[in-house]
Amino acid sequence: MRNKILKGSLALGLAVAMIIPCFTTAYSSNAKTLGELKAELAAYKKKVNDNAASQNKTKSEINAAKNTISKAESEIEVNQQRIEAAKKQIEELNVEIAETQEEIKNLVRSYEIMSGDNNYLEYIFGASSISDFIIRYSISEQLADYNDNLITSYEDKIDENERLKKELADREIALNNQIAEKEKAIASLNNQLSEYVEDAQDLKQQVKDIENMVKNYVDRGCKDNDLLTSCVNLMSDTGFVRPLKKGVRTSNFGYRTHPVTGEKNKFHTGIDIGGNAEGTNVYSIANGKVGMISQPAPGKKACGGKIVYVYHNINGQLYTSTYMHLLSINVKVGQAVTNETVIGTVGGGSRTQSWESCSTGPHLHLSLAKGWYGSTYVSYSTWVANLVDPGLKQYTNIPGYGKYFYSRTW
Ligand SMILES: [Zn+2]
Repeated sequence: MRNKILKGSLALGLAVAMIIPCFTTAYSSNAKTLGELKAELAAYKKKVNDNAASQNKTKSEINAAKNTISKAESEIEVNQQRIEAAKKQIEELNVEIAETQEEIKNLVRSYEIMSGDNNYLEYIFGASSISDFIIRYSISEQLADYNDNLITSYEDKIDENERLKKELADREIALNNQIAEKEKAIASLNNQLSEYVEDAQDLKQQVKDIENMVKNYVDRGCKDNDLLTSCVNLMSDTGFVRPLKKGVRTSNFGYRTHPVTGEKNKFHTGIDIGGNAEGTNVYSIANGKVGMISQPAPGKKACGGKIVYVYHNINGQLYTSTYMHLLSINVKVGQAVTNETVIGTVGGGSRTQSWESCSTGPHLHLSLAKGWYGSTYVSYSTWVANLVDPGLKQYTNIPGYGKYFYSRTW
């Protein structure tokens, strides 16, 4: 595809180019005067500040929630240790109870012997004396009482530990609920934060856009109370003429197969006019005023290279004409032009290759859009939406593809 197109172009001695503008903005102003535009700027700056404050507030809420979680987690850890300790103590107390019960059993057995059991005589005779017998009797009884008390106290301690275990388990449930709640809160705070961050990017871009608009108007001598549509002194006109004394259409406006990449359905924002060497004069297509100039930074390349945007008022309808791939620019922003003004010269060939990344041969790319791009709107997509085919009869009347013209008027 590429070879075929290039061959075709070479056969005609023509150049082709693609245009991918490298700047996009999205701000559309409602201001009628420069003062209103400045107020809009102040409002957006305030929004940027508010947004930063909201971001900080959200961040500290997230940190507070994280702190609560980590406190709850360490409390759970301590509680689990306490639960384990309580369990262990209950086990030990149960062992103590079992041992004490065994002792009581033994003591009761001896007591039973003494109270008339069959082995009574055996036990009596086992006593070395009557006093031994009395001692055995009383000690047994006392020990049994003592052990009973002991068991009761062990059981009380077990109850206490069981209560503690339950209390700690309940607390753990409560803490886990708290953690779950805080984690949910953090997730939603994080969502909110990323929304703020996104908003901040948009807001900062908007501030930049409005600042540029304000600067444009101020540079053109507008005062705060001036209407934006009238403070820019611009010579109106009744129609357009061609931007070159001769030329040939080498590419149409609209969707086309890309001449270099072969990509289908690429939108071409204007028409390409070849048939002129680099350095040939390019004229404004109507009276007006230079609205914007775009050129690559020194040492950098850009698609479209050096570009001039001219504002027009044709019978009350505002237009922006755009001239791309220029070799030189002969005008300044704000300069009044007539349709005889040379705004620059044809480039796009070897002499512009060091700063032009999207042209394969000398030609002029001409775009025409309704409204003033960079003034009544600044959004690239709005510019694209407002584009018209500049080659149509009612505009510059450029003959069809491959056909030459030899005059600026018809
Ligand atoms: Zn083009």
